[in-house]
Parts: sequence; structure tokens; C-alpha cells
Amino acid sequence: MTTHNIVSVSGGKDSTATLLVAIALETENLQAVFADTGNEDQQTYLYLEYLEQTTGVPITKVKADFSHRIAGKRRFIETKWREQGIEESVVEAALDVLQPTGNPFLDLCLWKGRFPSRRAQFCTMELKRDPMLEKVVMPLMGQGDMIVSWQGVRADESLNRRYLPECDEVGGGLFNYRPILKWDIPAVFEAHRYMGIKPNPLYSQGMGRVGCMPCINCRKDELREIAQRFPEVIDRIERWERLVQQASKRGAATFFAGSNAKHPKGPIADMTALEVMEIANIRQAVEWSKTVRGGLQYDLLIASDQNACSSAYGLCDSEWEPINMLEAA
Ligand code: SF4
Repeated sequence: MTTHNIVSVSGGKDSTATLLVAIALETENLQAVFADTGNEDQQTYLYLEYLEQTTGVPITKVKADFSHRIAGKRRFIETKWREQGIEESVVEAALDVLQPTGNPFLDLCLWKGRFPSRRAQFCTMELKRDPMLEKVVMPLMGQGDMIVSWQGVRADESLNRRYLPECDEVGGGLFNYRPILKWDIPAVFEAHRYMGIKPNPLYSQGMGRVGCMPCINCRKDELREIAQRFPEVIDRIERWERLVQQASKRGAATFFAGSNAKHPKGPIADMTALEVMEIANIRQAVEWSKTVRGGLQYDLLIASDQNACSSAYGLCDSEWEPINMLEAA
């Protein structure tokens, strides 16, 4: 029986440390997998190349494809939206923009007609877990082999990770293994140092996490840093907001403020599409990020779970310190 060892890497510190543990243990049949969300920073792609070259472990890149689901959504809009009496201009606008772009993050949001949020964090599953399962793990299953999924999860990151076992069996020969479960952050960076591997340079550029640029869960100060250092990211998100807005039945879609968000002017869900786009768009979020604690007029977001990004799968990098984007009114 062959054992396949698969490490999910994101370019972040925890998954890199996990890969380094696997290398240090001289693990056989080792492969690393990176799920490209299409919302990554260029430095992460370069870092993955660096990791491949320095460790000698090939990194398989997988990408979600939403073209079929977008085609299905077009059919739905052509029939159901019209049956529901949605204005023809809204139907036409959505059909105009609903074409696969090849960028997984954007295509996912176009298909859904919205951005993911803390309470509807479908991005991790759709962009990371599912492509890895479909393209790497499932083809190996059913052959009588053992597949070990190495996950860079740490217990101190969030409540839903605290009680995870170090190893568990999923079924069909698939096991989850979390070798750095009990590690703290200094240990993670120590593993990099010990193995002679540099951490992703984004950590020294004010980023609390490595992954989507930006992540829907990014910290207030991180958003400010992104806007200062990488203004092109904000320009891109602004373009995406316009496109996803066009694909949305409601006519509103903002990167940070999901429909559950509250604003000093009231809940986002109660506002008109125009109001939402005027007060809760990415530019407004950036302005809010520049305010000190108590900058109420830009308090766009509600944090329902301070570590919402820390899925039990370890697919999205965890952050350094808790998010606090809901400031006291
Ligand atoms: S990094 Fe953030 S935005 Fe990207 S998939 Fe993970 S949770 Fe979603």
C-alpha cells in the first residue's frame, strides 16, 4: 500500500511550517498543493516558486472553474428573474456581465452575485477546499492507498480549531494530519529559520495574514497598509465591485460590507442599492481604515467571529492578532 502525503500550502507561515515539518521528517511521496484563488498577491506566487526551488518539493497548482455554474446562472436569470418581474434593465445588465473571466475569485462572486462575508464565507470551500479535493485528493482515492492530508492548523488560532485532534480519519483511506496543532507563532517562524527558509515577505510589509489580497477578514490596519502600499489592489477591488454589482439582483455588492453589516446609518440590508454602494464600497472602507478607534462614520463592518477566517481545514492563513472592525458605537 502506498501512502500519499499531501500538504496544502497557501504561501502563509503555518502551511509553510507544515511543509517544512514534512520535509524534516523525510516524508515519502510528498506533494504540496496550492489553490490559486485569483485574489493573491504577486509576491505570493513568487514565494511559492522560491519554496519549490529551495525545498525541492513540487507545488501543484489548482484553480476552481465556475464556467458551468455561470452558464446555469445565465439560464436562471433569463427565465426565473424575468418570471419574478425583475426589471429588464437589471436582467440585461446581469446577462451582460455574467461571463467567465477565468479568475476564480471574481467568477465565484459573479456567479453568486455577491462577495463572501464573515457569515457567508463560501470562498474557502469553493476556492480552496473543493478544487484540492476534486483535482488532487479524490483521484487518489479508491485505489487502496492511504492519503494523508497535512494541514497547517494551530489550536490557538480559534475556537473551532482548539479541540481538533492531531490526526483523524475521514474515510476511504483519507486521513487529516495536523502536525503543528500545538505550536505557537514563534515556533512557526523558528521552523522557517531552522530550515533556512524565509517567510513570505508580505509579513514584513504590514500584512497580518497571507492569502487573498485582501481577505474578506482583513484587519483594519491591514486594509490601511494595503491601500498605502498596494493601491492597485484597491483599484482592482473597486472594478470587481462594479462587476459584481451588475451581476447582483439587488444591484449592490460591496467587498467588505455583507448584507448583515451594520452602519451608523442603519443595517446595510435595509438600504437601497445606491445607498449601499455609496457608503460601503471599498473606497469608503479604506477611508474608514484610516480612522482611529471611534471613527464611526466609516464603521462599515461587523465582526461576528473574530477569527472567522480560521477554518478547521487550515486552508486560509491565520492572522497575528484578533480583528476588531466593529468599534463601539
Ligand atoms: S483568504 Fe480570506 S477571502 Fe480568501 S478564501 Fe480565505 S477567507 Fe476567503
